[in-house]
Amino acid sequence: MKTTRATSRPHPPARKRFGQHFLERSWVEKLVNKIDPRETDTFIEIGPGRGAITFPLAARAGRVVACEIDRVLAASLDARQLPNVSLVVGDFLEITPEQLRAAAADATCLRVAGNLPYNVASPILFKLTALYRAGLPLVDATVMLQREVADRLLASPGTRDYGVLTVLIGYAARIERVLQLPPGAFRPPPKVHSSVVRLVFREPATVAKSPECLALLTHSVFARRRKTLANALLGYPHARPDDLAEWLRGHGIDPARRPETLAIDELVILANDLAALAV
Ligand code: SAM
Repeated sequence: MKTTRATSRPHPPARKRFGQHFLERSWVEKLVNKIDPRETDTFIEIGPGRGAITFPLAARAGRVVACEIDRVLAASLDARQLPNVSLVVGDFLEITPEQLRAAAADATCLRVAGNLPYNVASPILFKLTALYRAGLPLVDATVMLQREVADRLLASPGTRDYGVLTVLIGYAARIERVLQLPPGAFRPPPKVHSSVVRLVFREPATVAKSPECLALLTHSVFARRRKTLANALLGYPHARPDDLAEWLRGHGIDPARRPETLAIDELVILANDLAALAV
């Protein structure tokens, strides 16, 4: 008599260029508990991979829109035909607010989750803030990052880790670290430790009249972070006051300070003045 044995097809090898490090089963519940999905939530999951987070998320949330760049992984997830999971196949960095809105069936609140590909984690964070600014109703994002990137997000002014990422993401969201993981929490293990952070999107205390101007100013002064502020501002490429030292004093800021000591609110105040000069 011929017998057949049910065999599960082996997974295709992890693709390094897509930053594939799959979460081990023993960590899934800890992560999903931190995400804290509710029945009424609609999630956007970035990089579902083999579905480690997607399946438990779909079991606890109302709907999951999963965006995966790897066509092979996306196809095998799609083949599972989960009723409340829809797949967007492609690069999350290229996705438009309209595509996401349509995929999420015009949900009025969207939550984000993902074990991010570390090679493009910072661009993905910037993309999330751009989507929020474009009016997508993002509430929060709970994402796995390389520990050093989380350190930069949470850095205080005047420290080595404080920089463009801290300022521009911190402008858009309140940030907290909710979990730390060793390399062994993933297959294959990455060379780095990992942190899960939660970004809660909100209007900042001091609103930038021109977010573009804030970004430009932040990039220019942090490119010269060791210089005095008055000198670093010479790198700002658009209209600026003739007497930078006097202008800074007028805002109660010592021109001898280093750019890396400026709090986010201080950068916004300066950016707002520069934006007014540009019109
Ligand atoms: N969520 C799975 C897990 O935790 O096991 C996989 C996480 S793995 C670190 C990152 C996932 O993001 C991979 O599935 C990878 O193919 C996908 N990915 C990489 N770059 C992407 C991009 N630009 N847009 C969407 N997905 C991407």
